[in-house]
Amino acid sequence: MCGEKGMKKIIYPGTFDPIHNGHVDIAKRASIIFDELIFVIAENPRKKPLFTTKERKMLVEKSVNDIPNIKVKSTEKLVVEFALGETAVAIIRGLRHVSDFEFEFQMALMNYHLNPDISTMLMIPDEKYIHLNSTVVKEVAELGGDISHYVPKVVGECLNIKFKQ
Ligand code: ADP
Repeated sequence: MCGEKGMKKIIYPGTFDPIHNGHVDIAKRASIIFDELIFVIAENPRKKPLFTTKERKMLVEKSVNDIPNIKVKSTEKLVVEFALGETAVAIIRGLRHVSDFEFEFQMALMNYHLNPDISTMLMIPDEKYIHLNSTVVKEVAELGGDISHYVPKVVGECLNIKFKQ
């Protein structure tokens, strides 16, 4: 398409079940560095997500709709294959603790093996989000705790609805 040549795209893959403010923080930072960031919702039925792929995609879209160079897609494919199809040059992943490192390191090396041309970047979020993950958000919400500081408003609303069902 006109004007797309030379555009630097990065993909941000994950389960995002649901998206929280730590994910948004990473996406904002990376979207400043790259021309376009694509959230890639992994379908991954093995993980038995609380939200369907369609719901997770809608929640990401609504959470980042103020950032013009972010797109949201979903896939069942391998991340590097998806990246290739999108002509993305890199994958971004968040790094919270040393404990994240081992897993991310392994994934990055495997992805280099699968396609050495797609770089992996690991980014540290603001310290406010270091202890945040989707599992904790869901557990606290299920027990009626206040998660409003940790998730976009729309996510809080959908969690309330889910747990009332
Ligand atoms: P996974 O892909 O392991 O199922 P998520 O979908 O929750 O996990 O996360 C997608 C990406 O976002 C991963 O790189 C993960 O490290 C990162 N991430 C998760 N929580 C945070 C957080 N609080 N701050 C920054 N990055 C995070």
